[in-house]
Amino acid sequence: MESKRLEDLNEKSFKEAGIDKAILVFGSCESHGGHLPFGTDTFVPHDLGIEVARRLEKTVVVPPLWYGMSLHYRHKPMCISLTNETLTLVIKDVLKSLVYWGIKKVLIINGHDGNIPCIEAAARDIKLEVPDMGIAVLDAWWMTIGQLLPPDTFEVWEGLGHGGEGETSIVLATVPNLVDMSQANGMIPDMDPVVKLIWNFQELTDYGASGAPERGTVEKGKKMRRVLIDYLVDFVKRMDRQGWRFEKKKA
Ligand SMILES: [Zn+2]
Repeated sequence: MESKRLEDLNEKSFKEAGIDKAILVFGSCESHGGHLPFGTDTFVPHDLGIEVARRLEKTVVVPPLWYGMSLHYRHKPMCISLTNETLTLVIKDVLKSLVYWGIKKVLIINGHDGNIPCIEAAARDIKLEVPDMGIAVLDAWWMTIGQLLPPDTFEVWEGLGHGGEGETSIVLATVPNLVDMSQANGMIPDMDPVVKLIWNFQELTDYGASGAPERGTVEKGKKMRRVLIDYLVDFVKRMDRQGWRFEKKKA
């Protein structure tokens, strides 16, 4: 099977594949508690991206970014972070490079909360510069997954949390050899459901994780992974039919 990773292709195989779509993965390097690897936020969306690309035509996954904006997690080892400014510029440069080679259909799969505002700012700037571009963003799969799975899937806090029940589960289904469940510990902050209080992570939990990591299971993770991959494949096929635009009609 031909590789879906851009870094594996060469001039000839790239041309022959007729690539017109790219999947971009933005991750981070930071603690996710004692039990999950530093690369969690890249491992998960990169795996999703590769699996999605395998089921699509003319689609490639560009090399993932293993750093994100993680300064609000820097009290724990081993955070390596870009600033908001740097990350926004990097994302814009990557998008511009794709445009230069005529790739104007892009699906961004983000793995890390701190990247969300930078992706939004960069994507909006590029969309203004290149209006015929289609840029789709799954910016927080850990929130979205709750809408895609039956409500009783998770036991605690709807599976939320940084390294919590949901994230631990999907990492168990993605890179099981890198998970140490004997170190799984988290806390659940009582957050207001309406107004957002801007936090540094140590305000939410005494550990590197929040939520209930010890409730994570590989079974839940496999379900999450399957549902997200199926959804994204259907989404891209729908976008291809619609020219990467909304369908709109009068009420
Ligand atoms: Zn993260």
